Amino acid sequence: STDVRLAVLGCAGVGKSAVVVRFLTNRFIWEYDPTLEATYKHEVVVDEETISLEIFDTAGQDESGSWTAWADALLLVYDITERASLTHASHIKALAARPLPVVLLGNKIDLEHTRQVSFEEGEQAAMELGAGFFECSACTSEGGLSEAFLELARETRRI
Ligand code: GDP
Ligand code: MG
Repeated sequence: STDVRLAVLGCAGVGKSAVVVRFLTNRFIWEYDPTLEATYKHEVVVDEETISLEIFDTAGQDESGSWTAWADALLLVYDITERASLTHASHIKALAARPLPVVLLGNKIDLEHTRQVSFEEGEQAAMELGAGFFECSACTSEGGLSEAFLELARETRRI
């Protein structure tokens, strides 16, 4: 099987840990240690091939992390209720040591009443990055949360 190393990056508080745990366990927990950094292994099947994902849930080392040389693919998470988190996510790709498949994921769509970034703005930012784009809620599991991971697995396999 193919191994894919996937780094999950973005501002503190955007829901990286919540997104990863939702994907791995289909559960949502309200509080995570914001300093917690962990790597998980998870097998997925895309296009009838088993891919072993190694998922690195980062915690505040976007600018200077070991992920830059390690990662095969990047999941850039922002919070649709925090415009600055989209700007931040958009800058991360440039820090990678080489061109990689990237997906931009706008989280917290259950908080529609406090939305600051429209779907179209997220989509536009992703297009400028040459990235895939999804919105989701780790809280309610609405949207394309799993699809974001699966698209990265699929894209990386093609390289
Ligand atoms: P991280 O610092 O990026 O890993 O963010 P966390 O996963 O620790 O989440 C930060 C905060 O946002 C926590 O209080 C979570 O409960 C909350 N959170 C994460 N995802 C969602 C979501 O989809 N909806 C809502 N309403 N809250 C979320
Ligand atoms: Mg975290």
